Amino acid sequence: MTDLTYSRIEVDDDGLHDCARGDHCAARTTTVEAGQRITVPAQTYRALCDADRTHVLNCLDELPGLYSELRARIGDKSRSDGPRVSGGGKTAPVILNLAVDALLRHINTVVLSWDERVRVVAGFSDLAAATTDTATTTGCVLLARHVDTLLGLPAEPMSRRRDLTQAEHLPLDATGLVHPEAGWVEYNTNLTGADAGLELLALHHRCLRMLGHTPQHHDLITPCWECDERSLRRHDGTAGLADHVECMRCREQYLGSRLSALMVEEEQAQLRKRDREAQQEGQRRQVLHSSVAGFGGRP
Ligand SMILES: [Zn+2]
Ligand SMILES: [Zn+2]
Repeated sequence: MTDLTYSRIEVDDDGLHDCARGDHCAARTTTVEAGQRITVPAQTYRALCDADRTHVLNCLDELPGLYSELRARIGDKSRSDGPRVSGGGKTAPVILNLAVDALLRHINTVVLSWDERVRVVAGFSDLAAATTDTATTTGCVLLARHVDTLLGLPAEPMSRRRDLTQAEHLPLDATGLVHPEAGWVEYNTNLTGADAGLELLALHHRCLRMLGHTPQHHDLITPCWECDERSLRRHDGTAGLADHVECMRCREQYLGSRLSALMVEEEQAQLRKRDREAQQEGQRRQVLHSSVAGFGGRP
């Protein structure tokens, strides 16, 4: 992951480089040149740009809550390890339980492994918590409090696990053990603070997906100021994007004050639409009322 990510990062003489989120950078700019859409990540001196650093903080803030929600989903708040093998009662089916369980353990592994690295750098004592659940929450709080230490961590070998079906996506430097009967591979790879950010964002996204909180994009009724088509879409912030509107046809982006002006126009358009609909509804009722009255008046 690290090496793949960094080999693509071009570092300037003055240390400026692409935000590690690449094309997914929340502060990326998109331009259209000769019909080609060109996306440029924000330039930063750190691993992630400011917008994505804030996004990591938000994810760390929400992760403990999502973790509890997932835990509640399998109907057992106190259990701390091992897959639930029997369903029954009001709990979800076994397959879902196993998938949720695997995600819970993955969150735990990722959060605690980064927690450990930050503690070493900051000279803190080891994390002490009564259960894996409280350890995850404590870890998230520590990572948020020391987010710049986290994102600035140098490359160091870390242990990760991956499903065998995902084996072709392993980092190039991965070395480890394959467990064919269990269907997963355990490997070591060099990970940096940039990877920490990317892993936490991905975890947050996986939680939302597992819980059914998929991004809700909102389509505007105001036509695009550039191409005049009704193809404007406001992307959901939970999808990891900064608040912006994009034209799905000409790819024009609306940010900052332009976005505010556009949203004022959209609100007025929505109000006019509501008025129009209320009027039409009023007329429809009138027609209905007179036809019912007419019908009732028949002999
Ligand atoms: Zn970024
Ligand atoms: Zn457009």
